[in-house]
Parts: sequence; structure tokens; C-alpha cells
Amino acid sequence: MNNRLALLRDQVSERLETIPDPVSGKGLVTSERVSGLEADEAGKVSFTIEAPAEAVERYVAVRDAAEAAARAVRGVKTVMAVLTAHGAAPATSMKMQSASAGIGQVGAVIAVASAKGGVGKSTVAVNLACAFAALGLKTGLLDLDVYGPSAPTLLGTGARKPAMRADKMLEPLEAHGLKTMSIGYLVDAASAMIWRGAMATSAVRQMIDEVAWGPLDVLLLDLPPGTGDVQLTLLQRVPLAGAVIVSTPQEMALADVRRGLAMFDKTHAPILGVIENMAWFETPDGKRTHIFGEGGAQRTAAQAGVPFLGEIPIDVALRESCDAGTPLVAAQPKHPLSARFRAIAEAARANVARLNKPAPKISII
Ligand code: ADP
Repeated sequence: MNNRLALLRDQVSERLETIPDPVSGKGLVTSERVSGLEADEAGKVSFTIEAPAEAVERYVAVRDAAEAAARAVRGVKTVMAVLTAHGAAPATSMKMQSASAGIGQVGAVIAVASAKGGVGKSTVAVNLACAFAALGLKTGLLDLDVYGPSAPTLLGTGARKPAMRADKMLEPLEAHGLKTMSIGYLVDAASAMIWRGAMATSAVRQMIDEVAWGPLDVLLLDLPPGTGDVQLTLLQRVPLAGAVIVSTPQEMALADVRRGLAMFDKTHAPILGVIENMAWFETPDGKRTHIFGEGGAQRTAAQAGVPFLGEIPIDVALRESCDAGTPLVAAQPKHPLSARFRAIAEAARANVARLNKPAPKISII
């Protein structure tokens, strides 16, 4: 790093030190809450605030203050501060009402992303969530696709609305053994479509912070399609245990996967793996036709050095189950595709444990 950037970094570090750590009362840097502080030629500064898991909610304001402090340094143009939770997850008993709020009691938050729409991201997210549940994990699914929420259809929740508790927290809707929330539960899809950036972001924050998720082993986030700033802004607020990228085997998808990898690089979230959807179609005589090409996503994962989690073929039963609001993995656990989803969930779970090392402090499922 050249001298100018080193100086900029030091100046930011000094400013961060002026913010007291809520736990120790000392400066954020002295308290070892700041990691990965970087500055680049374009004046972009990024760092991570490492909060203790049991007090992560108190650090949301700290992260905001740290972001503002860094932005005030001359020469800094943009700031990205990511909040991560470290330490054992709090006990599952709900001692205080506030402890059940937000994602404070979630063991691992996993984002499911795709570079573009129509590759089956939501289909995969819903069935993967059911697969985690089938493995015995307490699982939540948060449909963050504010522009085209699909959870109400895929989960068959119909006109059901989440209840609001006395403390103004929303109760997630239980469906197919999952705790679920979607902007589609709160407003009709057509109104969600016209939301712009800031509004969409604040809706997403509410669905993370003001929903009584309670104790969960894993919470899957079904992101809006794309790997741009919108997705990044949503992810800034969430301490991720990892990300899953859904793609089709097409050559074109290779660039898409790379964009996804680049996005998660910025959030410092480990890539748990790539899932290749619509990998092939099997005709009744057992012959496989590779409609979208063969193994593209798998090759890209290998080239990029990230894990490959598995393939999901095109299957009419999967499409029908989506349309019917009864996820295949929950409704037909013996279906071969359900077994595939469970194997993918197992692999993702193992990667959460493996890739969050060597920081065994991070709570994992
Ligand atoms: P995305 O979330 O990426 O926009 P969706 O999950 O909404 O995509 O899927 C788009 C359409 O493709 C849906 O109608 C869904 O039922 C169908 N679909 C997705 N994956 C498969 C698959 N493996 N086999 C058959 N249909 C699929």
C-alpha cells in the first residue's frame, strides 16, 4: 500500500477509535472490534465491525456511527462497514422479549443469490430451506425480493398476514415447517414493484430487525436477482455466514457467477457454493438432455476455486409443486429431487462450518 493510502487508513482508524465500544467502553479499535480496514485509490474505505453475537443489536448504531466517522475523513468518498456477529449464539430460551427480535438468535444467515432472474433462485431457496428443516435444523426463509416477492405463491400462504405483537414486532408466518417472511405478506406485489432504492432498503431492514425470528439454526435470504448495488446495500446490514449462488449451466452464466462472487467478496461473506439449476431434462426413457449446456456452473465454480454444491435437473414435479404452493422437498420427501436438495443442504451446512474457520468464535449451525 502506498503512503497516501496508509495515511488515509490511519486517519480512518483514529476516527473509529473515538467511538466507544458498548461492551468495553474503550475505543472501537482498542477493543478489537474493527477488522479488515482497507482504503483504495478511489477513496473507498471498507471495514468490518465484529460484534459479540449476544449484543449484535447494540452494534447496529455503532456501525452507523463508524460509517459516518469514516466518511468525515478528508479524501474518503465512499464507506462500506459490515457488521458481523461473533461468539456463541445466545441460549435458545427467550429470556427477554427483545432477545427474540431480529436475527440476534439466528445461528447462520445464508444468502441465496443469482445474477439474473428466471434461473430458479426462489425455487431453489424455498426447497433448500425445506431441506435444512428436513435435516432437523430450525429454519427460516426471508424473501427479500422486494420487487417480485414469490414466497406467498411458492409457500401457498395465500392471503395470510403476519400478526403484530404488542411490542410491534411481526410474527413470521409458519409454513411447511419454516418461519417465513416476505414483503408479499405485507403489501401486494404490484405496490412492492414500484418501490425505489431507499424504500426497498428500509423495508428489508424492517424484515430483518422487526420480525420476531426467535431462535433459528439457519435463516435463508432469497435476494432479489442481480449482483449490483441494490443487493449489496441489503447485505450490508446482515452478518452473513455465507452465500449460495444459483446459476444455469449456460456459458453466459459463467460471467454471471463471477459477478456474484465479486459481490460477496465485498461483503466478506464466504461462498458456500454454486448450485447448478436446470442442469438437464430427463425424458421418460431415462435419457438426459442438457438443454442449457452441460456443467457450466460447475466449471466456473472450479475455476473460481469455490465449492460446487450440486445439480438440480429440470423437473415437471418441481415446477408443479411451486405453482401449487407446496414445496417438493416438504410435500414429497421421497422424490429423488428432494434427496438432491437434502444433499445440497448437507454440503452447504458443512461449508458453513468449514469456511467460517479459522474463526471458531463465529456461531455456526
Ligand atoms: P428466479 O427466482 O430465479 O426468478 P424462479 O424460482 O421464480 O426463478 O423460477 C422460474 C420458473 O422456473 C418458475 O416457474 C419455476 O417453477 C421454474 N423452475 C425453476 N427451477 C426449475 C426446475 N429445476 N425444473 C422445472 N422448473 C423450474
